[in-house]
Amino acid sequence: MQSATKSNKSFTNKHLKIAGKIHDGANLSNWRDWQWQIKHAIRDIDVVERLLGIEFSDEKREFLRKTLDKFPMSITPYYLSLIDPNDYENDPIFLQAIPSPSELQISRHDMADPLAEDKDSTVPGITHRYPDRVLFYISHVCSMYCRHCTRKRKVGDVDLYPSKEDLLAGIEYIREHTEIRDVLLSGGDPFMLSDERLDWILSLLREIPHVEILRIGTRIPVVLPYRVTDTLVNILKKYHPLWINTHFNHPRELTASSSMALAKLADAGIPLGNQSVLLAGVNDCPRIMRRLVHKLVLNRVRPYYLYQCDLSEGLTHFRTPVGKGIEIMESLIGHTSGFAVPTYVIDAPGGGGKIPVMPQYLISWSANKVVLRNYEGVITTYREPDSYEPNFCDRDCDKCNLTLKLNPAEESKAIGIEKLLADYDKTISLVPHDNERLKRRNGDD
Ligand SMILES: *Cc1c(COP(=O)(O)O)cnc(C)c1O
Repeated sequence: MQSATKSNKSFTNKHLKIAGKIHDGANLSNWRDWQWQIKHAIRDIDVVERLLGIEFSDEKREFLRKTLDKFPMSITPYYLSLIDPNDYENDPIFLQAIPSPSELQISRHDMADPLAEDKDSTVPGITHRYPDRVLFYISHVCSMYCRHCTRKRKVGDVDLYPSKEDLLAGIEYIREHTEIRDVLLSGGDPFMLSDERLDWILSLLREIPHVEILRIGTRIPVVLPYRVTDTLVNILKKYHPLWINTHFNHPRELTASSSMALAKLADAGIPLGNQSVLLAGVNDCPRIMRRLVHKLVLNRVRPYYLYQCDLSEGLTHFRTPVGKGIEIMESLIGHTSGFAVPTYVIDAPGGGGKIPVMPQYLISWSANKVVLRNYEGVITTYREPDSYEPNFCDRDCDKCNLTLKLNPAEESKAIGIEKLLADYDKTISLVPHDNERLKRRNGDD
């Protein structure tokens, strides 16, 4: 108890010290005011040095300035205060917030838009990649620019907020497409919008009968927890079922302030998830990851995805081999609570969507047994049933018709591997559109 009070106090003192360097007379209520935080976001290298009390070499400063010309910087004073000035070169917050000259080393495999989000954009502000859900970018601005941003190509663009007309066009698209049952609000950070604008967007989306769930992707609880005000939470509460995914990458980011923001959201009945990115030097370590997922679930946040770092330009120095991610998954699955384990995914370059990657657990099988191994290395067998009557599905059998009354609009179209497995579809293979052999067969070469 005593030590908690002591650490809270030193935390507060640290905040006051930085606040005082930002302007004379700045106090704790300034510090906890999110508008003040945004107004004083740090955008210059010399301010970083002054506030942290550190000094870069002339050469390094020059390099950093050059990097900023291509990829700008913005850091909330709150997030900056989490950096340990005594060991800033290894500091996970520093590495995520302060540019690295390595960002200018574009490797030949890098792409500006590796996930083809712009190509899969149907109307401005909408990426419609999956059949039943869309990404809807409602803000182009963030309070902190993550150095590992997958949308780095857009960071610092001049149009900070989409116009009302653009937003209405996006909402209209969603209204016209009755297959969309899940709308994922993203950006930029949706919580950079004013309360009124957010309320307006959510209310229009909520009026659309086929939209079942609303989701918000935000890094606000990590980089600007003071934005989670009672007013904001009361607005969000009106639009249930509403889910929030946030973006913690390191256990040090879970501070007293961020815990408070998360508690407000969870108390409002909002299910919370977390998407981390696997980053070299930041969290590419099973011990760090285990601590992170444990701290998340303590705060009622369910680890949702662990992303392999994308192939966006300027991220070369953050990438790890896929093997590092598998090693981390191996250290989590079975070793800790199932709901503390995220799904490790690679977001397919070219726009194929997220692909889950796992250690292998199914190691062999025969006609009547499968051989599995567990997290301890125990090898075991599971005996298949002696008789199992497969049910032939023509999408019109009594089983479903009696127990699950679907209307035609709720019926999804089978695509991909699901289609190959389906009884009701005659497709026997999926063939690349430029397959040479089939071209010869069609005689169209
Ligand atoms: C990640 C993503 C989604 C949501 O995917 P889930 O697996 O449902 O969380 C939707 N659209 C796009 C374009 C995405 O990248």
